[in-house]
Amino acid sequence: MITDNYNEVKKKVEEAAIRAGRDPRDITLIAVSKTKPLEDIETLIRIGVKEFGENKPQELKSKYDTVSVPVHFHQIGHLQTNKVKYVIDRAVLIHSVDSMHLAEQIQKEAEKRDITAQVLIEVNAAEEDTKDGVTIAETPELVRQISQLPNVKIRGLMTIAPFVDDPEKNRPIFRAMHELLLDIKSQRIDNVDMSVLSMGMTNDYEVAIEEGATMVRVGTAIFGARDYSMK
Ligand SMILES: *Cc1c(COP(=O)(O)O)cnc(C)c1O
Repeated sequence: MITDNYNEVKKKVEEAAIRAGRDPRDITLIAVSKTKPLEDIETLIRIGVKEFGENKPQELKSKYDTVSVPVHFHQIGHLQTNKVKYVIDRAVLIHSVDSMHLAEQIQKEAEKRDITAQVLIEVNAAEEDTKDGVTIAETPELVRQISQLPNVKIRGLMTIAPFVDDPEKNRPIFRAMHELLLDIKSQRIDNVDMSVLSMGMTNDYEVAIEEGATMVRVGTAIFGARDYSMK
């Protein structure tokens, strides 16, 4: 079931890439396993899946520490400074950096362990009150500030688009994100690599790929609906 779902999503990812004249290998499908049991992750590991997304730092830590073979975990959810320690040497990429304050904490924890943390800047492209992230206008300045931190490497941008009935409604948001990425890239800031654009979820990942996403984060379409009442 989960395996079939994954393969189906993977196929749609490839088809969307081809529609957009892109190489399907340039798009990473992250299976968002938050709230789901380790068995579900193991099921996908058996068919060779290596990229998983979690939004709670402690959940990422516990899954990372118990999974049968090493795989990549992405910290995709909001990160509080006091939780950085759980993910700093476990998350392959932190998608949700949205302040200098958080970046400085990541710098501190990364320096302690003599590693370089890989991060994305979370952009609240639609400027929704309920969402974390900086505005498009604020992003270049935050990138410049964070680029000064020696143990933090910016790899690109991430956004969570609004929840909409028709994914086409998010196309302008994804397009604006791609333009922002190219704009910052053209500024050639030291210690900044604008190669990753993390956008697109179950409802809109195909449109996101057509507009330039290099990472899509898909949960429900792979693992089924989440049950928060158990927690
Ligand atoms: C939960 C979550 C996803 C996956 O959402 P689905 O709609 O289930 O695909 C993607 N990104 C983030 C940041 C999330 O928190």
